[in-house]
Amino acid sequence: MKTNRVLLKLSGEALAGPKKTGFDEDTVREVARQVKMSVEAGVQVGIVIGGGNFWRGRTSNAIDRTKADQIGMLATVMNCIYVSEIFRTEGMKTQILTPFECGSMTKLFSKDRANKYFAKGMVVFFAGGTGHPYFSTDTGIVLRAVEMEANCILLAKSIDGVYDSDPKVNPDAKKYNTVSIEEVIEKKLAVVDLTASIMCMEHHMPMAVFDLNEKDSIANAMQGKINGTIVTV
Ligand code: UDP
Repeated sequence: MKTNRVLLKLSGEALAGPKKTGFDEDTVREVARQVKMSVEAGVQVGIVIGGGNFWRGRTSNAIDRTKADQIGMLATVMNCIYVSEIFRTEGMKTQILTPFECGSMTKLFSKDRANKYFAKGMVVFFAGGTGHPYFSTDTGIVLRAVEMEANCILLAKSIDGVYDSDPKVNPDAKKYNTVSIEEVIEKKLAVVDLTASIMCMEHHMPMAVFDLNEKDSIANAMQGKINGTIVTV
């Protein structure tokens, strides 16, 4: 059976809104409103959230990288608990799955369990990344998208697509409407990290990049209307 299932990635910074750290409730409520519309239209929505609004493993040289990455993974769990609760107050049913035990705060990830929640119309949060250090939530979302047989990955960013160079630095930077994953890898374009890109290529998982702050961009993307960049596989 072909399901209409997508995984949406929100970066930690996006959650923080203008404050750049912690949570911006208005931003999260706006995401919730659009996800709700999509769920009501029959889309099965999985969410992956980064941790950059709290912590990034690689930015600390003072402590062991494995421990720094553990803090990062827990930051993504905190983010998912917050966003899941906001989603609930907006009337959605949610469940948070992690690749490691978090006591009664989340449930341990398994494909069967996630499928059960999707079938109940719940929004499923895949928190904690891959559960392993030296990875990222980019890799986490590709892994879960492939495992859960999602149709595509949606990357809601603070930029409106993929450019051939950084538009903040180069005013002549050109935006792609579509770009192949091979070109993304070859030119090291800023979509997802290299590990995640290779996995997308190997498992033919398409991605769409668009501006989180553009009106209704998430709801539109869930209907296949992308005003950003599609990464073809
Ligand atoms: N992280 C990890 N393994 C994973 C996912 C995340 O170790 O599978 C950690 C890592 O330290 C990362 C942090 O969690 O820096 C936040 O994740 P995110 O993907 O937002 O990191 P970023 O790519 O922004 O560094």
